[in-house]
Amino acid sequence: MPDDLAELLHELKHELILATRILANQNVLDAFGHVSVRHPRDPKRYFIPRHRAPELAEIADIVELDLDSEPVRPTQFRLYSERVIHGEIYKARPDINAVCHHHSHAVLPFCISGRELVPVFHLGAVIGHVPFWDQREEFDDTNMLVVSPEEGASLARALGANAMVLMRRHGATVVGTNVRELTFCTVFSCDNAALQSPAMVHGHVDRLSPGEIERAAAHSARPPSTNRAWDYWVRHVEKGRLDAGAHRVKAEDREKEQDAETALAASLRELLTDSEICVIHGAARQSNKRTLSVLPRRRLKTTRTAVADH
Ligand code: MN
Repeated sequence: MPDDLAELLHELKHELILATRILANQNVLDAFGHVSVRHPRDPKRYFIPRHRAPELAEIADIVELDLDSEPVRPTQFRLYSERVIHGEIYKARPDINAVCHHHSHAVLPFCISGRELVPVFHLGAVIGHVPFWDQREEFDDTNMLVVSPEEGASLARALGANAMVLMRRHGATVVGTNVRELTFCTVFSCDNAALQSPAMVHGHVDRLSPGEIERAAAHSARPPSTNRAWDYWVRHVEKGRLDAGAHRVKAEDREKEQDAETALAASLRELLTDSEICVIHGAARQSNKRTLSVLPRRRLKTTRTAVADH
């Protein structure tokens, strides 16, 4: 794999993990729900974390699937049963490169009541027209999960050319041309729903006009807006210390690092007296250096320290 592609994929996967943590931090995702991104060079593949609560997902959990939502390489990981939502939408929508499926409590009152979700403030314009999909109409009684390719394709048809679709008695699926636009639309669609519900209790709901929706949505979709919001949400993730592990490298890279430390310890053993032991402390991966504490064997107290290259 060329280095530039490897770097591109790493950045994309890191952004995907950040998006899952942002959406968990915003109470859109909980133990359930998932986010995916299409492969930037191969439109017939996409990336999605393994079956895991999205807030806990790390880069090493990401699997590469084809558009039938089957793994490109054999994997021992359990996969999300509803992954066909992503694969079937990528098939139906070549313009879409990121998908989120969730059960946010902000949108569920609309899924339950069948009341129309409409843009009620300027940032909510990104939702545009929001269609409904009722699994029962086509598939009768199911376990309510979207697990067959036919069910996924049916949901993708209901989504049509829109940015999101409400799933009756279940949740919502949102799409975007990239991860940041998807995150923007997902957060503000939930904000819009969270504002519309109490506004309906007040009585009249004053929705945006078609012209306002078009202009405000176009303004919000610009990178200056999506990046500004992204940076703000990333900051909140960092403050909540939810970014821990988001940079974590692949398991095999960790093993290589442990092997290097073992080799280093073996070479140092020759330099120690019989009454000393050596402890290697964790250090910045990028520095290529390890801090060593040389301890007397009987009393675990540092007598001298050193920094070694490896
Ligand atoms: Mn679901």
